Amino acid sequence: MKINIADIIKEQGATKWVSVSKRNIELPRQFNSMELTGPVTLEGQLESDDGSIYLTGTLTAQLKTICDRCTCDCIYNIKSEVTEDFGKLVDRFAIDLEPIIDENFIIALPMKTLCKEECKGICFKCGEDLNKGSCNCDREVLDPRLEKLGLIFDNVEQGKDNEEV
Ligand SMILES: [Zn+2]
Ligand SMILES: [Zn+2]
Repeated sequence: MKINIADIIKEQGATKWVSVSKRNIELPRQFNSMELTGPVTLEGQLESDDGSIYLTGTLTAQLKTICDRCTCDCIYNIKSEVTEDFGKLVDRFAIDLEPIIDENFIIALPMKTLCKEECKGICFKCGEDLNKGSCNCDREVLDPRLEKLGLIFDNVEQGKDNEEV
């Protein structure tokens, strides 16, 4: 993935469009539920400025993964802005974009993926997919939002006690 820059490095403001793809990138172990459907692509523009090269571009990739709430298969599209300053490149006529792809791809991996923003998930009691229908389980009891609310009330009451003492 070496890009020849000999043609732009000596000319102030010269630009060059680049497009490189890398296949078979291995995902870190914590992302082993995800799978790339194709190559990871970096496209953008190199610009020469006073003996330095700057890159501004976009990294794209598509992942096959599972929804964190309902565990169905889903597709996640990565699209991430990339900027890189290669610094002074005196007497060098090529730059390597492979490490740039590797670094930016790892950063762009999603911590959570949902099949759709409003995914209702599955019932934690009977396993019913709540996107397809509802069950008769009482799920209110363990609603974490209510639990947090309860904690806040506790704290307020404790605060009052302290003031009185
Ligand atoms: Zn889902
Ligand atoms: Zn249920």
